[in-house]
Amino acid sequence: MERIAIFPGSFDPFTIGHESIVRRALPLFDKIVVMVGFNTSKKQAFPVSKRQKWIEQVFKDEPKVQVESYEGLTVDFCKKVNASYILRGLRTSADFEYERAIAQVNKRMHPQIESVFLLTMPEHTPITSTIVRDIILHGGDASMFLPKGIDMKDFTFDE
Ligand code: ADP
Repeated sequence: MERIAIFPGSFDPFTIGHESIVRRALPLFDKIVVMVGFNTSKKQAFPVSKRQKWIEQVFKDEPKVQVESYEGLTVDFCKKVNASYILRGLRTSADFEYERAIAQVNKRMHPQIESVFLLTMPEHTPITSTIVRDIILHGGDASMFLPKGIDMKDFTFDE
């Protein structure tokens, strides 16, 4: 059976921290579906279609990575794409507490789905989409935090 993982997130925008998690997880899975989702507790800055397009550009030469957007529950998306694993990245103890609760609730509801966590590379620990977004919003150069393949000139906000 194919080992399929989904990597769900807001990716608003996708950063080198996110990219690193996907690339490091590639040897573990046959396929990784990056799921551009809607976090109801976060206000979105960039349109979903743009976020999806940027991520597709980053992985255009990686056939094991697919990019989709989805509005429902993460576990329902798992069923839709036949995934048994949910991949997430951990930066800090705050991330851990947040992720622990979600993963344990998901496991209770869907015992067949496992959550898999990779620790961030030390140099990516401080990189958050919120900070990168603020840099872009105020006209700064965020290119060092963005994967190659994402063009800064392409950033327009969803006002
Ligand atoms: P969400 O809104 O679901 O939290 P994010 O786009 O903020 O979505 O994050 C998606 C996933 O990527 C989460 O598991 C998050 O912990 C992880 N992540 C975010 N930034 C980094 C980073 N710099 N290094 C490693 N993992 C990260």
